[in-house]
Amino acid sequence: MIRFEDLLEKVRAFSPDADLELLRRAYVFSAYEHKGQVRRSGEPYMIHPLLVADLLADMRLDVVAIAAGLLHDIVEDTPNTIEKIRELFGEQVAHVVEGVTKLSALQFASSEERQAESFRKMLMAMVDDIRVILVKLADRLHNMRTLHHLSEDRRIRIAQETRDIYAPLANRLGMSKVKNELEELAFRHLEPATYQALRLEVERKRQATEGLIEELTHELGEHLRDAQIPVVRIQGRIKRLWSIYQKLQRQKISLDQVYDFIALRVITPSVKDCYGVLGIVHQMWSPVHGRFKDFIAMPRPNGYQSLHTSVVGPGGVPFELQIRTEEMHRIAEEGIAAHWKYKEGRVGADRDEQYFAWLRRLLELQQEVRDPQEFMQNLRIELYPEDVYIFTPKGEVKSLPRGATAVDFAYFVHTDVGHRCVGVRVNGRMVPLRTRLNNGDIVEVLTQAGHTPSRDWLTFVATSRARNKIKHFIHAQEKVRSVDLGRRLFDKELRRFTVDRALVTDEALGRIAAEFGGPRVDDLFASIGYGKITARTVLTRLVGQDALKEREAEAAPSTPPRRPAAGGEDQKIKVRGIDDVMVFRAKCCNPIRGEKIVGYITRGKGVSVHASTCPNVVNLLFDPERRIDVEWDGGTDVMPYTVRLKISVEDRRGILADVTASVADMNTNIREVEANANDDHRGSIRMSVEISDVKHLETVMKSIRNVEGVLAVERAARETGGVTARR
Ligand code: MN
Repeated sequence: MIRFEDLLEKVRAFSPDADLELLRRAYVFSAYEHKGQVRRSGEPYMIHPLLVADLLADMRLDVVAIAAGLLHDIVEDTPNTIEKIRELFGEQVAHVVEGVTKLSALQFASSEERQAESFRKMLMAMVDDIRVILVKLADRLHNMRTLHHLSEDRRIRIAQETRDIYAPLANRLGMSKVKNELEELAFRHLEPATYQALRLEVERKRQATEGLIEELTHELGEHLRDAQIPVVRIQGRIKRLWSIYQKLQRQKISLDQVYDFIALRVITPSVKDCYGVLGIVHQMWSPVHGRFKDFIAMPRPNGYQSLHTSVVGPGGVPFELQIRTEEMHRIAEEGIAAHWKYKEGRVGADRDEQYFAWLRRLLELQQEVRDPQEFMQNLRIELYPEDVYIFTPKGEVKSLPRGATAVDFAYFVHTDVGHRCVGVRVNGRMVPLRTRLNNGDIVEVLTQAGHTPSRDWLTFVATSRARNKIKHFIHAQEKVRSVDLGRRLFDKELRRFTVDRALVTDEALGRIAAEFGGPRVDDLFASIGYGKITARTVLTRLVGQDALKEREAEAAPSTPPRRPAAGGEDQKIKVRGIDDVMVFRAKCCNPIRGEKIVGYITRGKGVSVHASTCPNVVNLLFDPERRIDVEWDGGTDVMPYTVRLKISVEDRRGILADVTASVADMNTNIREVEANANDDHRGSIRMSVEISDVKHLETVMKSIRNVEGVLAVERAARETGGVTARR
């Protein structure tokens, strides 16, 4: 049982100048207001705020945080308002209490949408004053310690929320002591049977290896003394049940195979001694390959520093070692809380930066990403990090989430480096952009001015940062194209109906834009470009239904083309009545000159042109608003089209030579050919040929059909894999 006087003593011990009077007043007020209330355990309610304050004192936080701990349930559980707290205890205490009260009201076990909203609020509160989350974590820790008094469904709800939200959050803030206890308690309440069984099994194993920890500790101590390497202390321990359990699950192994079941921790006076200890350890026992990690040279993003290694001990029992200085140890256990008391002046500013950099990144994210589902997805990446450490060619270390690719790295360096990234060298070798990076890779990004990101990248990038930057870029680009296309489509209608351009004022267009929910005229054109509304609709709004009808009688069905589409992707096609539209041939049907074609307004990518026989065109009909007339441009083509043919043949000797000869006879180039034999004495030939127009294609197909043994010839939409012979 804790007494308030003990708490005061504790605070006085680490902070002699602290305003203990504030704490005393907060205690008296809280005790009076909570008087008569009891916890589920039957204890007086005041026990809870007192123990929360005690946890905060253990973290050596300031009196504002500790007073807020004493008062944190006042607004929620007594008739007092936050104004009352402000009046009695000042702005800062009130601010923290208010933040904690708001956090307690958040719902995390709800729809993704509400969950995302809750997270946004939590992040705001944290950035506003980090003490809010520290008090909340202390509150949650004490509640978890006394969870067994609650009903089963409340127990499960709270434990689940702890595992999903608060433990990862504590981890992100580097508070491993709090995180570990939260995880252990959540495990105990969420999987009680598994927890108890594992507890017994681990206890049996501990007894069987009784004495081993002492033996290892003693032996290591001797060697270090002989080598004159100073140590502060050596601690031996059994790993936590939750971490053992996760390992069993992840690696699908039994407890006997868990090799870092036992762990030693060596605390040294200086960084130099850490490496000294490591040297001795590796001399005494052979290290397990791939288990050495230097988190001193490459700290984790949450600031954690330590050397890790696993070695094979006497009798072939492997165990893990962590080697770190006292300061690193404190930071490892307490994380951001360890820095709090240093705030006035000395160390830590730099690592505080790290924590806040992470918070800021999350905050940026929540401002950029409006879709709750996507926000949650990003947040999960940020909350449960497992990092790889990458070097720049200059030897700087960057940490990225596991699974990150070269493109992620490029965006990590700088947004512009990401956008312009054309290639990447990993450890001196050129590799594809989608290559996943490994720990210790030296990565050099090659950029080119004017290069832009590709939509493809979205299929493989692993970080929310890269993802959002790419999406943002693509959206912006699509918007520009759509505005442009929309403007042209609108101009075309203006010409068709010979509408007086004096009517087309920015003011008039602005009014119409507002009607369709967009604040700006550009949004209106974008909507036309995206095919959401038609140019005709806008025109009707502009001049009125009747005026338009009148003009329609006079107007030609469409004005003739004026000049070829100069800026288009495919200069052989143009959109009737519009100049300079981006036009490209659809890959599904790959239409060639002379075929009947139809255009379709894509979202942001200009007009795609399909053969009118293409099955996709039938599907496009459901949105006829986005269809547009296109035609082949006059004149001769400079570049031939590549057409893929699929030819079914009898499997006879020499048929491939005959088929290729028949094509060559038609003065036609073959780009690629590939032949396969089937089991049923049939074969198939796939061939890419260069074709100038649809008549040419018919001639070539006819010529192939006339070869003896050819059963069928058809156009193939896409190339398939297999062995390819080039000519
Ligand atoms: Mn509470």
